[in-house]
Amino acid sequence: MLIFRHLNIQIKLNTLYDNFIANVTHELKSPLSSIQLYLETLNSRDVPEEKKKEFYVLMMRDAERLKNLVNSILEIASMDKKKFYKDFEVYKADETIKKIILESAEQFQLKQSAIRFSGDAGCDILLDRNSIKTVFDNLVDNSIKYSIAPLEIMIKFKRNTKKTEIEFSDNGIGIPNEEIKKIFQKFHRIYDKDIPNVKGTGLGLYVVREIIKNHKGKVFAFSEGKGKGSRFKIELPIYTEKKKSVKGNKKDFKNE
Ligand code: ADP
Repeated sequence: MLIFRHLNIQIKLNTLYDNFIANVTHELKSPLSSIQLYLETLNSRDVPEEKKKEFYVLMMRDAERLKNLVNSILEIASMDKKKFYKDFEVYKADETIKKIILESAEQFQLKQSAIRFSGDAGCDILLDRNSIKTVFDNLVDNSIKYSIAPLEIMIKFKRNTKKTEIEFSDNGIGIPNEEIKKIFQKFHRIYDKDIPNVKGTGLGLYVVREIIKNHKGKVFAFSEGKGKGSRFKIELPIYTEKKKSVKGNKKDFKNE
């Protein structure tokens, strides 16, 4: 019966929403409490220099997670209001994306040597730099959260006739086949007893897909299965002089 289907959908949405609120609350509170605890320890005890450094790194990572979550929530709020970005500029694809990824890695205290770049896009693209930064913040953060062994991220650039491809792969815990299509849905998270108990909101990849869509691009996820790493392929249109910007307001060429 249709009414039961609607009811079912509603119940499912409500459960997703309740989970989301619980997760967001946890995601906001837990890094804050841990930062507070480190600060209290630093303030009240004679902490050895080495331990201090360790605390700073952990606090910076927590602060970064908080910022990332707030950015994602703000992105969603503006998406929901259809208030899309206006800061599109032309950038050199490889150079800019590489720079953005290294910035994300640095913010999450991931060593540069954990990231390998290959291939060549050799073209220009039209980007809203801040939102593309949010895309890679989410991908880098996920690779860190969903990996056990020492993390390795591989970035491959490729150019086709009309679009450029950026492939982002990690050697993390991978994604089960039946989940691949769902991971971009709002609030969707994978619950699996073998997966490390990392908290999240299920918003990261939804935001990634929306931002890429807003750049007239596409994003796909692949994984050979559990334990075999994950791969995200982002396609973005190549910018040529003839083309106007996504929103018709091309700005000056931006040199990074
Ligand atoms: P969150 O990380 O907050 O749960 P996301 O939307 O970023 O939300 O991701 C959705 C789900 O996809 C995650 O819960 C996780 O199970 C899975 N996932 C995302 N990225 C990866 C990755 N790099 N490796 C393995 N699993 C991933």
